[in-house]
Amino acid sequence: MHPESPPATRNHFQRDRDRIIHSGAFRRLEYKTQVFINHEGDLFRTRLTHSLEVAQIGRAIARNLRLHEDLIEGVALAHDLGHTPFGHAGQDALNECMREHGGFEHNLQSLRVVDHLEQRYAAFDGLNLSYEVREGVLKHCSLPNARLLGELGERFLNKQQPSLEAQVANLADEIAYNNHDVDDGLRSGLLSMEQLAEVQMFAEQLAKVRLQYPDVSGRRLIHETVRRMIHVLVTDLCEQSQRNIAEHAPQSLEEVRNLPALIAFSPAIEQQQQELKRFLRINLYRHYRVNRMTSKAKRIINDLFAAFHSDPACCLATTSAPLAAISHALLPTISLA
Ligand code: MG
Repeated sequence: MHPESPPATRNHFQRDRDRIIHSGAFRRLEYKTQVFINHEGDLFRTRLTHSLEVAQIGRAIARNLRLHEDLIEGVALAHDLGHTPFGHAGQDALNECMREHGGFEHNLQSLRVVDHLEQRYAAFDGLNLSYEVREGVLKHCSLPNARLLGELGERFLNKQQPSLEAQVANLADEIAYNNHDVDDGLRSGLLSMEQLAEVQMFAEQLAKVRLQYPDVSGRRLIHETVRRMIHVLVTDLCEQSQRNIAEHAPQSLEEVRNLPALIAFSPAIEQQQQELKRFLRINLYRHYRVNRMTSKAKRIINDLFAAFHSDPACCLATTSAPLAAISHALLPTISLA
């Protein structure tokens, strides 16, 4: 959005990625959680480790399909910057709090973070990222908001696809969270191996591990199974996307935008992936212990919103001390227990 000289020793997307890594919002991903609250244990994923896993999976796919690795990495590392704490419970609560002020969408907030809220550079607000990274960060957008975004919102209004790299980052996100939520779900004891044996993708890979390593059990068995699931998904995605690209043979980005999504799983794996998602929704995300935790999390977001709303000076603080103090006081009151 602001003219700048091109980077001397990096490409534009490398510079974008580097700016994301050096941003304050990136460091704050550490204490934002996916499903489990941070103090449940340091083995559970946070938004930070999730974003790193998305970047890793995204880069592997990018290299395989000869897409732009640096662009995908930038999108992956920035895609969750605008998330609230406490996963989707936090987003729902903040959306409710913000109802009279236009609501709250975490994708849009990620964009606000990189476009406006980061204040690190002398010449401009935000990180001044390339259009391509910003497009990838804005994964979803409601139509009323899309109308306010100019060029960036057009694809939602015209029902077009984003770049192939943005499509990869989006599915790398899915692969990452479905698999790490299986892993974290088992670690927490909220999911059991017996339950997961009903899910085709898990059952198939579990059987392969048991056949090859009959004596392996516990965490090692889980990890061997989950890594194979990731492998199946990544391999299938690369193969199917390669077929789609060959079939449609797009000659320009414009053509990519107007075709159906070219980065996709095969129908069989897509079906299995949907089965896994459904399983996680019912058995993990709606587990009564997770529900109990999320209703407490909603109360915390409501209280924080009310506190900042009644005393905006708290929000203007240059350090995060007030927020940290409040969260520390409140955090021990929520847990899975
Ligand atoms: Mg994500």
